[in-house]
Amino acid sequence: MTLLCDELNKIRGVECVPEVAMAPYTSFRIGGACKAFIRPFTLPALEEVLALLDVQDVPFRVLGRGSNLLVDDSGIGPVICLDHLDSRPVIAGKQDDSTFIVQAGAGMRLQALIAWTLKNSLTGLEPLAGIPASLGGAICMNAGANGISMNDVVDELLLTGPGGSSWVAASEIDFSYRSTNIPEGCLVTGARIRLRKGSLKRSLKKIRSVMKKRCRTQPLGKANAGCVFKNPDEGPAGSLIEQCGLKGLTVGKAQVSRLHANFIVNLGGATSTQVMDLITIIQEKIKTETGIELRPEIHIWKERA
Ligand SMILES: Cc1cc2nc3c(=O)[nH]c(=O)nc-3n(C[C@H](O)[C@H](O)[C@H](O)COP(=O)(O)OP(=O)(O)OC[C@H]3O[C@@H](n4cnc5c(N)ncnc54)[C@H](O)[C@@H]3O)c2cc1C
Repeated sequence: MTLLCDELNKIRGVECVPEVAMAPYTSFRIGGACKAFIRPFTLPALEEVLALLDVQDVPFRVLGRGSNLLVDDSGIGPVICLDHLDSRPVIAGKQDDSTFIVQAGAGMRLQALIAWTLKNSLTGLEPLAGIPASLGGAICMNAGANGISMNDVVDELLLTGPGGSSWVAASEIDFSYRSTNIPEGCLVTGARIRLRKGSLKRSLKKIRSVMKKRCRTQPLGKANAGCVFKNPDEGPAGSLIEQCGLKGLTVGKAQVSRLHANFIVNLGGATSTQVMDLITIIQEKIKTETGIELRPEIHIWKERA
């Protein structure tokens, strides 16, 4: 991998560092080292990186803000971090008198984008306030809250692969509950979203109520990765876990949150093995007691075989 990093570092606008600990790059604060941490600073640099990895047949993963990830303790392969592809939002067009198209880089923080929309008297993203995501990660996960998800606002995506970048209509992508069918090896590098003219006062009021609810219901003071399981058709995963008496269950330093049972919190120094053990215990107990199979919402990154 040092050889690969040497080659990648020759590309203008790319930084590649071998053996970088992943824990600081995840909201869980868990995970071993990745073999190469690749940071492109421009889109052309990213395109060159992808072409080189493709020619050498090197598999890689894409990192947004790391807020929905559990990274294996024993480390993973190369990671491309998009935090510098965060071009500032611009109004790229108008659909009608009150609907604007805003374009931004995928590495931008969703919360920074929401702040920008407020400054520009645009409305539409307020229900998503408080989701710790990059714009690209939010799109890939089809993140949502308070009745909306990203597919309600995304108009077009900039997809980048080894062959270059192209804009794709959101209607061509299959957005489902907390997932999309964006092809593996394709990165979301930009997005155009639809927003309406709004009132700052009303937007602030909405954001205050959304944030108040988050602070009341989520264990924000402890490292976590958001909801661990997708809600099954039968109801919220958190309620099922709570009804089965698993709130507060602890393995090592990983604990089922006492505040919100669909969150696992890192009490300090938890390992991915401890979190995985807890996930397995929860799944088995829920299956035995209710017959329901809980599926993880978080993405679990292990070294590929
Ligand atoms: C406290 C807390 C609260 C949360 N609340 C919510 C909530 O209310 N609603 C909700 O939906 N989620 C919530 N989450 C989960 C998380 O914030 C979302 O899933 C978010 O969309 C993840 O974005 P990210 O940039 O951190 O992606 P990451 O965690 O870095 O990556 C997630 C997946 O997306 C892929 N990916 C990321 N960026 C790209 C890209 N540009 N191109 C291609 N693939 C990419 C990654 O490879 C990975 O598979 C919460 C998390 C926390 C910690």
